[in-house]
Amino acid sequence: MLKQLDIDLSSKCNLRCSFCHLSFFKPKKSLSMTYEYFHKNITPSLHNIEKLTLFSKYEPLACKDFLPIFKEIIQYDIETYFSTNGILLTDETIDVLVGNLDYLTISITGFTVDRYSKYMGGNHFETVCKNLKKLQDKKILKKTNLPKLRISTVAMLDTLEDLKAAIDLVDFYDIEEGLQVTSLKSFGDDFKGRMALSNIEIFDKKIEEAREYSDSVGVKFYFQGDSIGENIENTYKMGHKHCSMPWYRMSIQPNGDVYPCPVASNPIGNMNTESIDEIWNSNSMNSFRKGVNSIEEMNSDCLKCSHCRHKSLTSKVANDFTDKGQYVFGMNRKGK
Ligand code: SF4
Ligand code: SF4
Repeated sequence: MLKQLDIDLSSKCNLRCSFCHLSFFKPKKSLSMTYEYFHKNITPSLHNIEKLTLFSKYEPLACKDFLPIFKEIIQYDIETYFSTNGILLTDETIDVLVGNLDYLTISITGFTVDRYSKYMGGNHFETVCKNLKKLQDKKILKKTNLPKLRISTVAMLDTLEDLKAAIDLVDFYDIEEGLQVTSLKSFGDDFKGRMALSNIEIFDKKIEEAREYSDSVGVKFYFQGDSIGENIENTYKMGHKHCSMPWYRMSIQPNGDVYPCPVASNPIGNMNTESIDEIWNSNSMNSFRKGVNSIEEMNSDCLKCSHCRHKSLTSKVANDFTDKGQYVFGMNRKGK
């Protein structure tokens, strides 16, 4: 049963982080979803949905109709979540989110002004810190614990040294859901040697040291669901962990394309010509499901699964897109 939708409200971002796919690939179409489009095509399905994730590959607050869309969603009993770089959080947005949004992740890589600029490509570290404080202050004022906050950071061999500063920042701003660490996927030559698989022993050691430090200061620490040893064990058979996502969720792009999961290459339908229910029950979706966990007939997307919770950390095809012309959701390499 369809319980969760992942919706990219925009295929834009106000940043160009040095490591991000957006610095190397261009989306199929650069656009944002309008309130009218959302209301016509997605609202009719909201009464059946339990969870809504308002981002996948881009910056949701770059959507100019973010607020009217969010206000429509909160009329329904749905758990809501999104991740943002936190720069475009205005006072009005914070006021609407606090008490209404369930979970909010802020992505930061580089935990000083200089380190942030180096990796995130802009001088915004202090703005993001100010917005974290505004969010926490507003929660106190409104006597609510929502949204529960989490910081997410990209670990590459040269940012592992920043993990202690990341944990200190989480502690300082009292970020309830702690620190999430994701591992770098390489999209360009400069990043190839910085992936976990380039030096798995060092990576494992530094992650475990950060986990110990986190425990010692009482900060929650989440690294892709498990340790590197467990990841190797859990992805050994299929090349990815057992995955049940296409049995309860689908991913939507602002042009109406619907994908069977957040790292799929090809759409299984488009909301301009079919309803969400029709796409969910379509032959294309059923045929994709058959190839998710089947060693004999695995989908090409699942063979190189790059989803942060399911991927193998040591497999080249799941992490190294340096020489690839295409990336997920029909993105093409720039200049090609
Ligand atoms: S903020 Fe996120 S989506 Fe935007 S460029 Fe950075 S990593 Fe990419
Ligand atoms: S690509 Fe990965 S996340 Fe997507 S359905 Fe396949 S195994 Fe699951």
